[in-house]
Amino acid sequence: MSTIWDTIVVGVGGMGGAALFECARRGWRVLGLERHAMGHDRGSSHGQTRIIRKAYYEHPAYVPLLHRAYERWYDLEQRIGKHLLTECGVLSVGLPTSELLQGVETSANTHALPIEKFDADELRLRYPMFRFGPEYAGILERSGGFLAVDDCVRGYVDAARQLGATVHESETVFGWQATSREVIVRTDRGTYHAARLILTAGSWLGELLSDWGVPLTVMRQVPMWFGVEFPEQFRRDRMPCWIADTPAGMFYGFPMLDPLGVKIAEHYGAVEVGHPSEIDRQVHAADEERLWHFLTPHLPGVVGPRHCATVCTYTLTPDRHFLIDRHPEYDNVCIAGGFSGHGYKFASVVGEILADLVEHGRTSWPIDMFRWGRWTASSVD
Ligand SMILES: Cc1cc2nc3c(=O)[nH]c(=O)nc-3n(C[C@H](O)[C@H](O)[C@H](O)COP(=O)(O)OP(=O)(O)OC[C@H]3O[C@@H](n4cnc5c(N)ncnc54)[C@H](O)[C@@H]3O)c2cc1C
Repeated sequence: MSTIWDTIVVGVGGMGGAALFECARRGWRVLGLERHAMGHDRGSSHGQTRIIRKAYYEHPAYVPLLHRAYERWYDLEQRIGKHLLTECGVLSVGLPTSELLQGVETSANTHALPIEKFDADELRLRYPMFRFGPEYAGILERSGGFLAVDDCVRGYVDAARQLGATVHESETVFGWQATSREVIVRTDRGTYHAARLILTAGSWLGELLSDWGVPLTVMRQVPMWFGVEFPEQFRRDRMPCWIADTPAGMFYGFPMLDPLGVKIAEHYGAVEVGHPSEIDRQVHAADEERLWHFLTPHLPGVVGPRHCATVCTYTLTPDRHFLIDRHPEYDNVCIAGGFSGHGYKFASVVGEILADLVEHGRTSWPIDMFRWGRWTASSVD
């Protein structure tokens, strides 16, 4: 007789891996179905690093989730015996009136988070590798830093497997059906039955919810690694992670962590498409030129050459806030997606929230802002 699973997780990437672990930790028989092989580079959670920070310019409502996310990342470190989160600080730079600086300050004030503020002169003295005009200012959050994302994703899947979770790699889910008592999931290899379903399919989430018209779009992103003139200036004891809001767009980067040089990218700034199959996976000269437009005036010590580049996707909601909720028609189906290019740092708490939602239909974590009902008539409240 085939197994009846307690929970099936569709999409074992950043969020799905953490959800799989949280379900296994609760003693459930849990199956993860992943269309690619583990460690693949077709989704949104591959690579070297993701920024993590608490003074969240996007909205102060994220801050309680971030406190919990940090705790859960440290927990994962202890479980797998690997350093994952490096607090080298995050420096935000922009005009004092910019969305970035105003937002960082609002979150810091609302939640009493320690920050350090710099005017343009102080910024130049403290961080001589940057060049910004006298109209700019900066804010440093010392507790910010970066996650070693490939290790984090692998860490959650390994920890889940150790607790008894099963993962089927290279198996694509084509569709699912639900009643209040059961879900049935169809793949290219078979049919599975479970009591509950978690959908964490990243950029493919829209096609698994096509009957409900979730307004998700996909955006191509191309981070690159460049050589620097004086590597000692870019070490992580001197250079924090950084985000810069400029008239040319929002850019971000990391200190130099290895011989590839510094990793730099633009946040958003590309066209939105409807499906990941429309994403151009080639790297073009124009992708690099956009970064040089920022680097030449603002980080002149980054001199090249370009050592590496990778194509990655954002999955966007219209308001750029996440989608985390129960399905509007089926209480035993939960969804997490639309992380809009800033979600990975939350994966550790999102896993916990998804397990809460399928187990109890609610969570004690504040997720009102992420409700499905903000777009459709069929709200679940
Ligand atoms: C270049 C870049 C930089 C970023 N920087 C940051 C940052 O600094 N800080 C931060 O917090 N966030 C950052 N993000 C955002 C963050 O990485 C994403 O929000 C997060 O990784 C999304 O995770 P996910 O689980 O939703 O998607 P994914 O990790 O892509 O997982 C979805 C999984 O579902 C699988 N799947 C899809 N469809 C099916 C199916 N039908 N059947 C089976 N499996 C399926 C996919 O193969 C994939 O493995 C960045 C994103 C990018 C692209």
